[in-house]
Amino acid sequence: MLKPTIGLEVHVQLKTRSKMFCSCPVEFKAEPNTLVCPVCLGLPGSLPVLNRQAVEYTIAVALALHCEIQPFSQFHRKNYFYPDLPKGYQISQYDLPFSRNGYLIIETEEGEKRIGIQRVHMEEDTAKMIHGESISRTSGYSLIDFNRSGVPLLEIVSRPDISSPQEATLYLMELRSILRTLGVSTANMEEGALRCDVNISLERGTRTEIKNLNSFHSVRKALEYEIKRQEEVLKEKGQVIQETRHYDERAGVTLSMRTKEEAEDYRYFPEPDLVPLKIDPPWIEEVRSRMPELPEDKRKRYKELGLFPQEAATIANNPELANFFDSCLSLGAPGKEVANWLLSEVMKYLNARNLSIIEVPLSPEGLVEFLTVLKEGTISSKIGKMVIEEMLQTGDGAREIIERRGLAQISDPVLIKKWAEEVIKENPDQVSQYRQGKEQLFGFFVGKVMKLSGGKANPEILNRILKELLLRE
Ligand code: ZN
Ligand code: MN
Repeated sequence: MLKPTIGLEVHVQLKTRSKMFCSCPVEFKAEPNTLVCPVCLGLPGSLPVLNRQAVEYTIAVALALHCEIQPFSQFHRKNYFYPDLPKGYQISQYDLPFSRNGYLIIETEEGEKRIGIQRVHMEEDTAKMIHGESISRTSGYSLIDFNRSGVPLLEIVSRPDISSPQEATLYLMELRSILRTLGVSTANMEEGALRCDVNISLERGTRTEIKNLNSFHSVRKALEYEIKRQEEVLKEKGQVIQETRHYDERAGVTLSMRTKEEAEDYRYFPEPDLVPLKIDPPWIEEVRSRMPELPEDKRKRYKELGLFPQEAATIANNPELANFFDSCLSLGAPGKEVANWLLSEVMKYLNARNLSIIEVPLSPEGLVEFLTVLKEGTISSKIGKMVIEEMLQTGDGAREIIERRGLAQISDPVLIKKWAEEVIKENPDQVSQYRQGKEQLFGFFVGKVMKLSGGKANPEILNRILKELLLRE
């Protein structure tokens, strides 16, 4: 297979109260065209004023991505015509971006991998176009909602350090969890709060760009398709053309949109209505001091508790789950056991119902009590699965459920011995086979005794008693 080189360009909507350059609210469920003013409608004579909160969020993201924040950066006008851009230009950043030279770390199957970040800069979103169902030259139509016009955006450009669709997904997941941990964006791809363009080449040849991918699934599928397409072009001694392609989700193919425009085509020039941005180091330090623990550090801490890298990553990249996990730790529970139950039974339950951990009545205290009960030997881990499911449904305590449903483990050797003797009596053939050396039959007897106990016999005691009886000729 030819080696893919992949870079990602991500646009993130910031969760500020107001827009980037005016005081219109940022709100996604409002009636179309109700959150507008002369500035975000691009009316002549209106003047932009930079949103301080947006700058602060950008500082936090730049720090989290280990970028160098530039002491001096500038806004530029990126000139092009499109109906969703009434000014005829987008206020963006060009050769003096807010920050550069960062990285983020992904947890791949082969271990940690560092993906470089070329730059993080600020710009404004465009209006939103909604295209009518029937698109034809005579009957098609498009609607424009200017509520989105001027919403603060971050553009985060990776270096081409990504070498598979899988790694691209991991990069996006890591980025999303950083943004959510910082609380600067919902980073929800389905709602367009995080949008992704990818560029890809094989063996460092000519690259193509695929624009506007709006789900993790699309990013992976589009890359897989494009890798195959380029491979076939090269196999037939053809040439990959540098162009922008569109991913057709329904057909699962990428299609040529236009040959790639160059930066010069935009006639960038400094935005004369905004002063250059000077960021004082004390401001950066103040933002840094308020930053929460980032997924990268969480992962490290979890690995030190004995979690496997993938387990640590799964928990660290889900802020709600990580909070839950940390609460269990602070109650003194052993990390490895908490993780085992969270990532198996609890996640299975949540995923099947498309719920998050904060939407079920299970509390960290509840889970820790459950682990104590398990350790005491009151129930087996098999019964434990039933108990935890009921805890997830009802929020009741483990002891309460065990009591109510009579699930306590039976450790009474007299009782267990009685069941074991019954099983031995009823299965003479298997017993003689076992005694002649067919040891794999042991599990058969265990199963039978367990069944008689209603699944409640203490497995250790059961094993010991059964072995004694079977070995007794
Ligand atoms: Zn406005
Ligand atoms: Mn951009």
